[in-house]
Amino acid sequence: MKREGVHALSFDVEEHFQVSAFWSDERRSKWESYESRIERNVDKILSLLSLYGVHATFFVLGWVASRRRGVVKTIVDQGHELASHGFGHEMITMQHPAQFRDDVRKSKQLLEDIAGVPVYGYRAPSFTIVSRTRWALPILVEEGYRYDSSIFPIRHDRYGMPGALPYCHRIETGSGSLWEVPPSTLKVGSVRIPIAGGGYFRLFPYPMLRPLLNRAVAEGHPLVMYFHPWELDPEQPRMTGSWLSTFRHYLNLDKTERRLKWLLSDFRFTTIQNAVEMVRLACNGDGSLVGTTSINVQHSASRYVTAGNGHV
Ligand SMILES: [Zn+2]
Repeated sequence: MKREGVHALSFDVEEHFQVSAFWSDERRSKWESYESRIERNVDKILSLLSLYGVHATFFVLGWVASRRRGVVKTIVDQGHELASHGFGHEMITMQHPAQFRDDVRKSKQLLEDIAGVPVYGYRAPSFTIVSRTRWALPILVEEGYRYDSSIFPIRHDRYGMPGALPYCHRIETGSGSLWEVPPSTLKVGSVRIPIAGGGYFRLFPYPMLRPLLNRAVAEGHPLVMYFHPWELDPEQPRMTGSWLSTFRHYLNLDKTERRLKWLLSDFRFTTIQNAVEMVRLACNGDGSLVGTTSINVQHSASRYVTAGNGHV
């Protein structure tokens, strides 16, 4: 039986050869020559979601959208939310503000042109909005985004903002307000651990992960889960890289689909846009935007209680 509450499910739509763990300028220059596996992998996800009657958010990379326009259209035709994963998958920590602005503007425009729907959400490659790249937040507002899902409130070797508010909240950026929708984490002892999906979802056996998810739900906030199409593709071609990157990327790929089915059986999911709307309504019954705070002040948009199909 499913637990109470509705949670946010998301997918970062990128090819298996574009992940940051295997990034190099040389490999980047060869992207066109690698085998594309995105259509079959997204189709697999869409079939699964259809089976469980779930709608999710798809953060699509502009590079992929420009070459696989049909993937973007199919996602939207099936009622899912279209959002941006940027264009070229460069980590923000490697970009100047002007490069970042070009990247997020180009990807939003492209996705909207292909699909004919507005794009409100953004997720950075490898969650690289960190303390020193907070300048990205006002730029997102200026470029028309309404929420961001890039701040991971944990310690990690490539990303993370330890101490950041670990659940959906509103940030005042100086250029306007933005919803921040961090991936789910849980405090165990003195350490905040990720339970949101990706490599962590493949690392822990599901029976071990489920009680952690239940504990996070009991704290009163919607889960925010993320996956990638390549995580459901155990036959993908192998790339060379560091031991740690290889371990993280290829770990338990043959188990993702089964675990995802268990997850979809245990919890009710919707798009991030819908989940944010639920939080907003729960905070401000009149629909007003009270509760906005400054970029430097942590503020909670705490418990959510209702379901709906509103818009951010
Ligand atoms: Zn990515």
